Amino acid sequence: MRIPSDVPSEVHAGMSDELITRLQDACARVENARVRSGRSEPVTLLAVSKHQAVEKIAALVSAGHRCFGENYVQEAWKKWNTVQPQFPDAPDLQFHLTGPLQRNKAKMAVGFFALIHSVDRLELASALAKVAAKRGIVQEVLVQVNISRESTKAGVDAEQLPAFCEQLLEYPELRVRGLMSIGQYGLEEEEKRAEYRAMRGLLRDVAPLMGEHFNQLSMGMSGDFELAIEEGATIVRVGTALFGERSKN
Ligand SMILES: *Cc1c(COP(=O)(O)O)cnc(C)c1O
Repeated sequence: MRIPSDVPSEVHAGMSDELITRLQDACARVENARVRSGRSEPVTLLAVSKHQAVEKIAALVSAGHRCFGENYVQEAWKKWNTVQPQFPDAPDLQFHLTGPLQRNKAKMAVGFFALIHSVDRLELASALAKVAAKRGIVQEVLVQVNISRESTKAGVDAEQLPAFCEQLLEYPELRVRGLMSIGQYGLEEEEKRAEYRAMRGLLRDVAPLMGEHFNQLSMGMSGDFELAIEEGATIVRVGTALFGERSKN
């Protein structure tokens, strides 16, 4: 395990104190929002660590945090191979994939990510299922919904969602846990709430089709995660509010 004083030069002293303070702050805000909204089920704070130094991930794992979100498969593998061996006593450490996935990365993604948030096309689902079948495992996934109908954004349209989910049932190697959305940038609070409420409505509408495991809603980021929880998020994806600004590369 890494000796605490052995920090690389790019990481300034006190970094990990600051990080841990932000983690505690974010956890408290998640918990307050959950209680405020009168919900009894737990809410997962996913620390989105894309483009963040592995030392910061390790600092959060040391502090007891276990769930991290990454957007790029190779970057995630590299970080996992650096961080995970430092924490042999944290078998519950998990990485989620929050970014888009290419079919040709299916082999690297299946069985590595605890949850893939970005399934949005049948070809991708089929590629993931094929790899999972070959390995005899079940991969947990979310269906990404383009709730804001932006042409540049990935995700299944709301109208297509029931049919899409039904088709996923043909892949027993995929366990569909729920839905994910990326909020539109620059919306007013009430518009954001409306989008999140619409997501919750979709989850409720499709749930009877999908079975008891279908109960997760991944929505809300640094700027609006409390609001998302109030509207039904069960996983919030928080990057900069925890880690600070991302590096460019
Ligand atoms: C980067 C990213 C986040 C985190 O965004 P912040 O605003 O830094 O909290 C969440 N979800 C997805 C899909 C992302 O790409």
